[in-house]
Amino acid sequence: SSKKNAADPIALPPGTSSEDFKEYIKKAVEIVGEENVTVINNKDELTKEHYTDPSKAHDMFHVFDKDYFVASAVIAPRKVSEVQAIMKLCNEYGIPVWPFSVGRNVGYGGSAPRVPGSIGLDMGRNMNKVIEVNESGAYALVEPGVTYADLYAYLVEKKLDQKLWIDTPDLGGGSVLGNAIERGVGYTPYGDHFMMHCGMEVVLPSGELLRTGMGAMPDPTQPHVEGGTLDQQPGNKCWQLFNYGFGPYNDGIFTQSNLGVVTKMGIWLMVNPGGYQPYLITFPKDSDLPKVVDIIRELRLAMVLQNVPSIRHVLLDAAVLGTKASYSSSDKPLTDEEIDAIAKKLNLGRWNFYGALYGPKPIQDVMWQVVKQTFGSIEGAKFFLPEDVPDKNAVLHIRAKTLQGIPTFDELKWVDWLPNGAHLFFSPISKISGEDATLQYSITKKRVIEAGFDFIATFTIGMREMHHIVCLVFNRNDAGQKERVHKLIRQLIDDCAAHGWGEYRTHLALMDQIAETYNFNDNAQMKLNEKIKNALDPNGILAPGKNGVWPATYNKQAWRL
Ligand code: ADP
Repeated sequence: SSKKNAADPIALPPGTSSEDFKEYIKKAVEIVGEENVTVINNKDELTKEHYTDPSKAHDMFHVFDKDYFVASAVIAPRKVSEVQAIMKLCNEYGIPVWPFSVGRNVGYGGSAPRVPGSIGLDMGRNMNKVIEVNESGAYALVEPGVTYADLYAYLVEKKLDQKLWIDTPDLGGGSVLGNAIERGVGYTPYGDHFMMHCGMEVVLPSGELLRTGMGAMPDPTQPHVEGGTLDQQPGNKCWQLFNYGFGPYNDGIFTQSNLGVVTKMGIWLMVNPGGYQPYLITFPKDSDLPKVVDIIRELRLAMVLQNVPSIRHVLLDAAVLGTKASYSSSDKPLTDEEIDAIAKKLNLGRWNFYGALYGPKPIQDVMWQVVKQTFGSIEGAKFFLPEDVPDKNAVLHIRAKTLQGIPTFDELKWVDWLPNGAHLFFSPISKISGEDATLQYSITKKRVIEAGFDFIATFTIGMREMHHIVCLVFNRNDAGQKERVHKLIRQLIDDCAAHGWGEYRTHLALMDQIAETYNFNDNAQMKLNEKIKNALDPNGILAPGKNGVWPATYNKQAWRL
């Protein structure tokens, strides 16, 4: 029946009757316990709106109606065997289930499911243990609910934080596991999180349990947990040391995908390099960007730049330090003159490069000499160490923590640039080339300003490319702004695709459109993804539509957004 009964959730799972849903919930309660099942009955219950206490049921930064991307119920398993049982139950009822770890995937949809009425599988609430930190192997094995802040606190508590560093994104509240499988980034030399993960444990859509890499090989020399389930048994002693094991490498298909629920993951920790010096270089002119980028390519590939540094547009830093209203009474995009005035006031450049030196002092000295000399060729470049910046709120002091893997929450503030601030991330990949980056910047900036917004962005520099992260800040209580920002991001995707630029990750609402841009040879890659999806998940229960991959049980055209 499609009529909503009083006891029904806001959205029933597609094709599911009230009766079946009730029955399903009853069985789910038998598996995980009453306290771990929450039915989302009412729009008024969707009150959580802030990163610090994130919603587990809807997208807090909604571009559509607040109750569009919404779960019918949130279920929080207590252990792996319960995850397996929930998968089986979902297969039995044909009910879609959307796993998340912490739900802080802000700008990309948070905890919300792509298909309204899916079960939100809250992997983090009860499964949040640091299973192991191995000092000599310099790795951690974590459950989904372990946040960067948790892992850091664990190291501090065990007095290991001076020996082992973690790598954190700009905000420390997300899941270490969740971020790595979304292929997120941080800023130390270990900034590519998927690159630095090692070994996974995964529940397949069928409920079957899998360990990847060396984890596939049992190790009879390890202690056995008497009477324990498979997931409780210790893994192979090289599980967190060698990524690839034997045969096809499977871990990639469990990233940005809907092929498994990841229940454990290994992550390499960086050994304290024996010295650390963060710095800031400011560049005064908009037109400095190509010169800065070309220098970065040279230094990054030569490993003089040892980490994932970033080039931040001044408005990103300005937004960390104040609201738009605190700088200007304008409700239009700020002009070049206004932006220059802000930069001057904050003693920043139009572009600001945050980097760090890693290693003992003599190594730092040599590196610093090269860095200063090379960037110093750009007219007006200024160099700052933290002690040169008295304002303790300045972004350099935040980055000084982030670039050594100490989680912070200070960068939350930029989302308040506008009242009721929310954001979408637009994240195309760029070559580390002055010409390419400048073209991508000018094309995106032009559209952002045409749409009536300020251009706020950063380039994070990977091994061979840059993630250009454009922060589209909007007022989530302003229907006009929501419509404009939504139109804008669709336009940006098309504009960038016309130049061969694709996004590395995206919000739920844009997954179909972006997936369609990766269409070499008549969508050969999507056809492969769909084949794998249908083989592993014939009932199409796990995260249908995730990153544009729809199971055969869904009419892809009808669901397309
Ligand atoms: P964060 O770690 O930033 O809080 P989320 O927990 O919101 O991120 O997860 C982001 C996305 O990653 C989810 O929407 C889901 O698609 C995927 N994901 C997260 N955790 C898991 C998991 N344990 N198994 C499978 N997919 C997951």
